[in-house]
Amino acid sequence: MTDIAPSLLKSIQKDFQTMFDKSDVISSLYAKVRDGTATYVEANKFAIETGDILAQALKNNLSSDVLPDGKMYYNIAERIFTPTMTNNYDLITDVTNQVQTALNKSANIGIKAIIPELNQDRILGIINKISSASDFNDVAWVLDEPIKNFSQSIVDDSIRENAEFHAKSGLQPVIVRKVAGDCCDWCKAIAGTYTYPNNVPHDVYRRHQRCRCTVDYVPRNGKIQNVHTKKWRSESESDKIETRKSVGIETKNSETPQEKEKRIKQENELGFAEKFATHPKMLQAYKPQGLKAALANKGYEVKPLNSGNFKGVAFEEGGGFKVNFGGDGILMYHPESRSHHGGAYYKISTGKGGIHRYDTNGNEIIEKRDTQ
Ligand SMILES: [Zn+2]
Repeated sequence: MTDIAPSLLKSIQKDFQTMFDKSDVISSLYAKVRDGTATYVEANKFAIETGDILAQALKNNLSSDVLPDGKMYYNIAERIFTPTMTNNYDLITDVTNQVQTALNKSANIGIKAIIPELNQDRILGIINKISSASDFNDVAWVLDEPIKNFSQSIVDDSIRENAEFHAKSGLQPVIVRKVAGDCCDWCKAIAGTYTYPNNVPHDVYRRHQRCRCTVDYVPRNGKIQNVHTKKWRSESESDKIETRKSVGIETKNSETPQEKEKRIKQENELGFAEKFATHPKMLQAYKPQGLKAALANKGYEVKPLNSGNFKGVAFEEGGGFKVNFGGDGILMYHPESRSHHGGAYYKISTGKGGIHRYDTNGNEIIEKRDTQ
């Protein structure tokens, strides 16, 4: 029997990418992320749309007719759902990371954004469910709502992780949950405004199928209360928070919040530059200076271009920038001036994928080749 998983995965990924690239909802949300005006409300919309598009791409390609014995075998499900759902996780956490970074910055909180871990259990749950039926069409519904719910939960997890971390660092995060439409009695009961560290119910981050309620967290500036001494102090003392964090605050497990942040960042941000090679549309979420800062922040050595008109010219003086990644990969930015490619552009080259150029919206620039 031929292994159909690789070709199915390919068509699903292709459909996903086409719909994602064409989505006006995604483009306008990316514009807000880029401007620094996006909040978790926008991140939630982004998650719903990304979940919607993946559900659609899965539905377009999967049915009893195309599967061996009309069944979604576990080993096929695993190879389709793990990469596609992880891709949604990558896209959504890129947005939540930028939203939280901007929120922290505007509230003058000197704490880095935390990226929540990928929830493998939820992916496994979907894989188990979908491979449990003898006829795929009996469980096809799994493709729709749970995929969207999974996508939204990534935003909820980001809020929870960041708010909890801020609370442990001495801030008093305020979480606001609002009902969308009429939703249901459970949602109406849990809607409200909650302040750490005292009265935040765990359920505030939970949502049932089809729930589109919003959870929002906007960190506040101003006086904050030290949870240990109950003394008020100004946020300019945030350096001391850092010191206290390094001393260690007790948690349920042995990991300190600082270690946890470090681990989560390491787990998720290795390969930050690589993400643009596989998801060039993510470029539109950044202004060039923002991307440069993000790359530097994640430990890449950002250098001026080493050839052409802008050889050795610093970005701050109108030049471009470049980083090396993953062995043979290069990501570079060329400014608008003296461009031979119709404006400012990014060039990404990898041994595996070859050379591609993109405009600042992440659209590939297709060169007209001179005939030889
Ligand atoms: Zn709801």
